[in-house]
Amino acid sequence: MVSNLPTVLALDFDGVLCDGLKEYFITAWKAYCNIWQPENSTPPPWLAESFYRLRPVVETGWEMPVVLRAVLQGVSEEAILRDWSTIAQQIVNQENLAPAELVAQVDGTRDKWIAANVNSWLAEHRFYPGVCDRLRTILQTEIHVAIISTKEGRFIQQLLEQQGIDLTDLQLFGKEVQRPKGDILLELKQVFGQDAVFWFVEDRLKTLQGIQKRLELSDVELFLADWGYNTQRDREQAAQDPFIHLISLENFAQDFSTWLT
Ligand SMILES: [Mg+2]
Repeated sequence: MVSNLPTVLALDFDGVLCDGLKEYFITAWKAYCNIWQPENSTPPPWLAESFYRLRPVVETGWEMPVVLRAVLQGVSEEAILRDWSTIAQQIVNQENLAPAELVAQVDGTRDKWIAANVNSWLAEHRFYPGVCDRLRTILQTEIHVAIISTKEGRFIQQLLEQQGIDLTDLQLFGKEVQRPKGDILLELKQVFGQDAVFWFVEDRLKTLQGIQKRLELSDVELFLADWGYNTQRDREQAAQDPFIHLISLENFAQDFSTWLT
């Protein structure tokens, strides 16, 4: 029987609270241009939407320009969604690319952009409808909120502050913490003790499945955010998994009891 209220609510940031797809695309396209030097540095108008649909296949940053490469070479979205790791490997092999170099391209592109104009970079992020109001409401209760993300904490802080969210009672674990999400959850569990009820909302199915496998985290209620960066197949898998709740944005914005139905 699941408690109707969490003691600790752990939230992923990108793909749960914040939609960073535009930033991902712009960064991916700039990196693509550096690597492949296309004649036209303006992306075709349909490319961004295609990239947004394919974003869930990306596990590490270097794959972002490679997704664009695949699409622009005519690989179908269906094939990419079904068989991305093979397709990515083929492109890397055929074109003699080194993932380390691709990482440097993507990170370098982003770092340059941030250094040149952090506000324009932040402006390419938006919050999903209703999540800020919901977060404000939760922060007024006894529930402890922790954001666990692979984005740098200082940027999460700025983005939340721009929305007028009071960070006093909010705990932030960003990229700088350099620890897997499961380890952070475990550490929080030690702080909050045996009786604490942990809920964790994340948009990446593999992350939830990784946490599921850890015995010491088996009592954490896991939620897959269906509005984030996941595929239809991920959502179907989550829906069939008795230990993962598939949650909609509509439910997220409502009372906790609706999350469990
Ligand atoms: Mg995420």
